[in-house]
Amino acid sequence: MKNSSLKSLVVGCVLVMAFALAAVAGQPKIGVLIYKYDDTYISTVRNALAKALENKAEVVMQDGKGDQASQNDQLDVMIARRMDGLLVNMVDAQAAAGVLMKIKNAGIPVVFFNREPDLNVLKNYAKAVFVGTNAADAGKMQGDIVKNLWDTHPEYDLNKDGKFQYVMFKGEPDNPEAIARTEWSVKQAEANGVKMDQIGQTFVCNWDTALAQVAMESALAANEGKIELVIANNDSMAVGAIAALSNVGYNTQGGGKFVPVIGVDATEQAIDAINRGIMSATVKQDGEAMGKALATIILNMVAGKPNLDGTDYSYDASGIAVRIPYSPYEGK
Ligand code: CA
Repeated sequence: MKNSSLKSLVVGCVLVMAFALAAVAGQPKIGVLIYKYDDTYISTVRNALAKALENKAEVVMQDGKGDQASQNDQLDVMIARRMDGLLVNMVDAQAAAGVLMKIKNAGIPVVFFNREPDLNVLKNYAKAVFVGTNAADAGKMQGDIVKNLWDTHPEYDLNKDGKFQYVMFKGEPDNPEAIARTEWSVKQAEANGVKMDQIGQTFVCNWDTALAQVAMESALAANEGKIELVIANNDSMAVGAIAALSNVGYNTQGGGKFVPVIGVDATEQAIDAINRGIMSATVKQDGEAMGKALATIILNMVAGKPNLDGTDYSYDASGIAVRIPYSPYEGK
């Protein structure tokens, strides 16, 4: 009698221990909402993130395809599936308040990334942080590149008026990154002593290569021979502008007529164009660093550790945002 009860107690203990071990060994479920897969920079982030979470978490990733309503549905499914942590790349950063409220009600830790919501909105939830870049920095770096190009290539001043005649390609009208890059690239160039003179209106091309190509074709039709510089908020648009230039005999490999083009992102296409001498420079958003940071921070949050444990990052003045630095790329 004594023996058998002892035996059942031991068996019971072993079972409890087995359950406990299973719970410890079970990986957290991390839900990742991406604004759209078809974005070169975000693809770099996704790949780095997936790699960093390998064997550490069960990852469920969804493509918002540029549609906030679809992303809202994807979020509802993730909450219903009881994700332990969420990484959210908003389609429309201005829709973050509603998204945050759902996540807060579910009590799930969340890292918003890349497309920046109003940080005052995020402060309504203690388990929300933001990982992005400093939007002004990319523009400032472009402005420094402009100064460098101006100083080292006097031939770019086609009309010899001592001013850099440029066209500007902007991502989206109200996107904070697009606004900051557009503004700071020119401001920084001017602060560096370059006289900037915009030709025509700013082209808003939705970060898109094909739209930028069409816009550049119209700019060339109106002002060919007067455009001395192209500044684009991202490389996709820079590459579109180069395609338009190439069609009328500029920026072809092996020399000839050339208009300097500057982008942001350091996409493979842009790096290739720079190395082939048909594009001047880009600014690198470190997508790999972003992906790794996201993985570390969300795992910390899920485990109840300090959010930035094991990273070299600290919060900016907001107290809830981490900024991944940029670097310039001007060719090999
Ligand atoms: Ca000029």
